[in-house]
Amino acid sequence: MEAVRRTVIENCAIATVDAKDTEYASGYLVLAGHRIESLGAGRAPEGLENVVRRIDATGHLATPGLVNTHHHFYQWITRGLATDHNLFDWLVALYPTWARIDEPMVHAAAQGSLAMMARGGVTTAMDHHYVFPRGSGDLSGAVVRAARDMGVRFTLARGSMDRGEKDGGLPPDFAVETLDDALTATEETVREHHDTSCDAMTRIAVAPCSPFSVSTELMRQSAELARGLGIRLHTHGSETVEEEAFCHELFGMGPTDYFESTGWLGEDVWMAHCVHMNDSDIAAFARTGTGVAHCPSSNARLAAGIARVADLLAAGVPVGLGVDGTASNESGELHTELRNALLVNRLGPHREAALTARQALRLGTHGGARVLGRAAEIGSLEPGKLADLVLWRMDTLAHASIADPVAALVLGAAAPVTASFVNGRQIVEEGRLRTADEDGIARATRAQARRLAALAAQG
Ligand SMILES: [Zn+2]
Repeated sequence: MEAVRRTVIENCAIATVDAKDTEYASGYLVLAGHRIESLGAGRAPEGLENVVRRIDATGHLATPGLVNTHHHFYQWITRGLATDHNLFDWLVALYPTWARIDEPMVHAAAQGSLAMMARGGVTTAMDHHYVFPRGSGDLSGAVVRAARDMGVRFTLARGSMDRGEKDGGLPPDFAVETLDDALTATEETVREHHDTSCDAMTRIAVAPCSPFSVSTELMRQSAELARGLGIRLHTHGSETVEEEAFCHELFGMGPTDYFESTGWLGEDVWMAHCVHMNDSDIAAFARTGTGVAHCPSSNARLAAGIARVADLLAAGVPVGLGVDGTASNESGELHTELRNALLVNRLGPHREAALTARQALRLGTHGGARVLGRAAEIGSLEPGKLADLVLWRMDTLAHASIADPVAALVLGAAAPVTASFVNGRQIVEEGRLRTADEDGIARATRAQARRLAALAAQG
């Protein structure tokens, strides 16, 4: 058997985000193959065999790689549109354009989304894709291929919509699938791409879009399908006051009660947003172990409101962070969500400790891993875990005078990524992708955005 190859990283500050929030002012990490073998204070142990690389990380902070828990990759080519709308008006403005997407567009958009996140410290990405126009090609295959080629760990949440305007839903009828088509295609996607192994690079989740675009029957049957296959469940929930009113009008109850009535609360479920939650909704999430993808920038961009993250955490609800689609968060970066989560949750008097810098880092790493059901393998720096980690440069003008590296990462300017590892493989070096051509991706996304705009203009 071939000896395992070791990489030694030394002389950096380390925020492990383990259960005790262990930190080292100056420490080391040893990566063996695709796992973390050891870490600690001071220099690496002498006498390690088969060390193929030593990295002097002086001036850096090492953290677990960031984990994104909510996104819509295809929106990369519809950024900067409907910039002053609330959620429902924004969706109605964009659905006709989104209904024209095809496989080359989705592949380029996925590359753009993934590249932007990866070079900013994301090691685990997710895509909630729910627009499947008839005859548009293999959209799920396109995003899985983009993530695999870039070397990013990935969850594809295979979405669906079957409640068009004629059934009281928000999307136009031409943008939705039938219930049967959605379930059949979802099951095929699971069988083709879902990897059950503990070091999986690709996982699939079952993800009907939202109460206002999905029939109650599709919600129910999606939950049954997912549980039959042992797959996680994802959807949007409690995002806006308009959604709350919609649920009361159509179902005679609020969103959380509606989710519970359709089998959609449980420790195998995570939901994006969860902004409009009362105390009993939060208690229901805590009781059932339902997770939350907090998306502060998107919630601000669409004037949705502020999720009660401090209350969710105090109740024991698993919470991760999400970029959300880049049509409602044009930056497409997750590290800025650490800062924005902290800032928006402090808005209001006497909220100065609502979310600390370390809690924000935890949301973006271990919290995200929990929400995706992968906390045993990723989300913290601990011996035996998968080697998904980032070296943030902290000794330049932007950060050198900030006393505490974790505060510098969360509160300071976006920190440069010197190196990012996924599964032990370095995918970012000095802020540039090693696994893809960023300039080529920029050209491809521009070309596909123009193609889509031209198709949409034809009506
Ligand atoms: Zn979303």
